[in-house]
Amino acid sequence: MDSYRHKGLRKSLVNILIKKGIFNERVLQAINTVPRHLFLDKAFEEWAYKDQAIPITANQTISHPFTVGFQTQLLDPQPKDKILEIGTGSGYQACVLSLLCKKIYSIERQIELFEETNTLLQKIGFNKIRTLYGDGYKGAPRFAPFDKILVTAGAEEVPKCLLDQLQIGGFLVIPVGEGDDKKMLKIVKHSEDNFTKESHGVFRFVPFKKGVVK
Ligand code: SAH
Repeated sequence: MDSYRHKGLRKSLVNILIKKGIFNERVLQAINTVPRHLFLDKAFEEWAYKDQAIPITANQTISHPFTVGFQTQLLDPQPKDKILEIGTGSGYQACVLSLLCKKIYSIERQIELFEETNTLLQKIGFNKIRTLYGDGYKGAPRFAPFDKILVTAGAEEVPKCLLDQLQIGGFLVIPVGEGDDKKMLKIVKHSEDNFTKESHGVFRFVPFKKGVVK
């Protein structure tokens, strides 16, 4: 399933990410550990360890490894953290996070992807991840509050209920903007009504859409 060849390719990918500016050792270690090729259709296996976004089920994409590294580094997951990811997709980002935090919840709005990824995650045994089917715009109130929330789809606006579901001192990482280019925002919750915002460059994502697909 995970050969020496894959491990070697992964190490080269980590070196590329270091050159592109990912410096957090724990994040690099997690990327070096998770076999990205297992999250892709066999036809794309050769591309798994290039820094590219790749198509997955239901016209979605698994993010560039650099984007995964960048968002994870910004989220700065700690061993005690309870994290919510919005946009499970292939499950790859959730697996990277699961190596770095205590518990991760991940929501997907497309039933086909949700079911496929759920089956994969059980098969490969990443057991700190609880997958949920639903509209990430509403977050996961049953499991709130979260120390950190990560959105892996491109939003037009910041959903208020995600801010409501953050712990005080926690933060949301979300790509936001009106066109295709989204600003990577880190929004820190200092109190129920005091937030600060930092902007960390421009990225492209598949769209963050309201509602679910059955
Ligand atoms: N983190 C994923 C990236 C997948 S692309 C990975 O590692 O592969 C973004 C995903 O967000 C898509 O699967 C898309 O269906 C999902 N998505 C978009 N809007 C959503 C919403 N409102 N709630 C939950 N998931 C959403």
